[in-house]
Amino acid sequence: MKLSNATWPEVETYLKTKNLLIIPIGSTEQHGPTGLIGTDYVTAQALSEAAGEKVGVYVAPPICYGMALHHMAFPGSAALKPSTLLQVVYEIIESFKKHGFKKFVFVNGHGGNIPTVTAAFSEVKSSTDTSVLELINWWRLEEVQAYEKECFGDQNGFHATVGEVALTMHLSPEAFDKIPNTQFKIERPKHHWPMGPSEFRAVFYDGRMESNPGLATKQHGQNIFKIAVETIAHKVRTIAES
Ligand SMILES: [Zn+2]
Repeated sequence: MKLSNATWPEVETYLKTKNLLIIPIGSTEQHGPTGLIGTDYVTAQALSEAAGEKVGVYVAPPICYGMALHHMAFPGSAALKPSTLLQVVYEIIESFKKHGFKKFVFVNGHGGNIPTVTAAFSEVKSSTDTSVLELINWWRLEEVQAYEKECFGDQNGFHATVGEVALTMHLSPEAFDKIPNTQFKIERPKHHWPMGPSEFRAVFYDGRMESNPGLATKQHGQNIFKIAVETIAHKVRTIAES
């Protein structure tokens, strides 16, 4: 159930019996030489909308930009400073709270967002707030990780992963028509977080982090989608009914 396709009277009616809102959050950033710039928000949005449909809850429009400063040495990436993103997340929650939403499930597609979204939650909770705030990082779901471990072993990696490239192949197949299938050698360079843009590019020169996205297929993407949607829907249902 897309909030963007609802009218205000429909939302008013919804709020008489329900108070949960899913908010997808991702990033606009490089995903290696064969991954899509939109990967992190495209995946978060699609998983959110499919899970929201299953449970019968609204899904807000995605937050398409995130804390991606370390990717800024790669063309096509855009980033919000942590302080900006914190404010964006905080103000979006506060806006929906005013109408009666009380439970917020953020479905996240980007690791760099985690500290900031968590900090924004703390800010919301700094008052007498009684909202329920939950962050679901889809690629960290046990069920997803088990599948990826079984299929990709230690080649899944940490950025431009096989799993996320496969998932976007399933969601946006036409975008891959122009991308040649390429196998990559796994390298595990020493590095230290946090990294700035030039530091990141010097260590991870083509944008991947220890991944071989050449293993990604549409079929894997479809399987990961199904596993992630079921797991997220189950979590959302539990929160909705609690
Ligand atoms: Zn990503």
